[in-house]
Amino acid sequence: MAPQMKGPATELIHAGESGLGEPVPLTTPIYQTTTFVFESAQEVLDYNEGRSNKYLYSRYANPTLVSVERQLAVLDRAEAALVFSSGMGATATILMAHLRAGDEVVCGAAVYGGTLHLLSDLLARYGIAPRFVSLQELADPERVLGPATKLLWFESPVNPTMRCVDVRRIAEACRARGVVSVFDNTFASPINQQPLSLGVDLAMQSATKYLNGHSDVTGGCVTGGSALVHPIELTRRLLGTIMDPQAAYALGRGLKTLPLRIARHNANAQAVAEFFGRDRRVGRVHYPGLPADPDHEMARRQMSGFGGMVTFDLDGQYDRAVHLFDRLKLIKRAASLGGVESLASLPVLTSHWGHTGEQLRAAGVTRGMVRISVGLEDVKDLIEDLDQALGDT
Ligand code: PLP
Repeated sequence: MAPQMKGPATELIHAGESGLGEPVPLTTPIYQTTTFVFESAQEVLDYNEGRSNKYLYSRYANPTLVSVERQLAVLDRAEAALVFSSGMGATATILMAHLRAGDEVVCGAAVYGGTLHLLSDLLARYGIAPRFVSLQELADPERVLGPATKLLWFESPVNPTMRCVDVRRIAEACRARGVVSVFDNTFASPINQQPLSLGVDLAMQSATKYLNGHSDVTGGCVTGGSALVHPIELTRRLLGTIMDPQAAYALGRGLKTLPLRIARHNANAQAVAEFFGRDRRVGRVHYPGLPADPDHEMARRQMSGFGGMVTFDLDGQYDRAVHLFDRLKLIKRAASLGGVESLASLPVLTSHWGHTGEQLRAAGVTRGMVRISVGLEDVKDLIEDLDQALGDT
């Protein structure tokens, strides 16, 4: 007798659910589901009481994301890793998990603008007190930590001057005072710099940049010890700042080629920096891989490669920076960084837009700066493009 057909709506919803064999895919599938099925009330109870490794709801956890989190934990030699919907999602979740009203955050003044505004414009409204400190102050980290300091947030190399700070020294000062240290490793990537090995408590990154590397995913991540990551995971559930499974799949795929891509970013950026470092048309090239760079020795101690970001300063002259920027043919005029395509941006129009002259001076940023995210193209073509764009400026 033919099996009894249910109604077409019922069949279409349920007929494809099971009986697919037990496929063993080579790559991690995209678990494009909001929720997960349990067999019984006992299974739900076991999940709730931490006795099972099942999944409940994709705002809490999803296997495609867990797969990427394992890759990231291994990369940073960390006990735990979490992924987020963006770098800013990661930053907000980390800060909200570890701070409460009355706490002071010490933050490098030369950090990503979004981090700065999150602290000064938004979290300050909830009683969290940010205090921004210069690179010079961070050189003496014991002195920047006050009695109410709960957390210190910093970056190195910093955007767009590529100045570096002594990561180990700052991390040690924080540890000695019981202050949580959080480091944004977006610019260097874990292939070039390992903040947890340098003693930092939590390492954060915008996965939008080098980790994914193909300019088609917005994401963020944090790595660190389980005791500090666990409260961030609980906060991520409440804020809903978790990554989407499609994005996690793409990130997981991008990560597989991270070491190869970073090696090429490093080599291309070094070649661009060296070529234009000798060019009289360029006032100054900022790149920690140049022996003449003021932070070269420090960068050598804490980085195994100097990354793909190079900044040209055309003697502080905005008109000359615009001239170069507008004449680029191969290198695209776009914000962001860390993708296979080379990108150019003018910091005074993007990351430092709206800064006063005084604020620009404090950040070491001039109106003549052009920042290049050096991609994976053939380096001779990149040099040729920059050379023709510089013209006779
Ligand atoms: N940190 C740094 C150093 C960045 O450059 C960015 C973005 O440009 C972020 C954090 C924020 O990341 P997202 O844009 O993925 O939110």
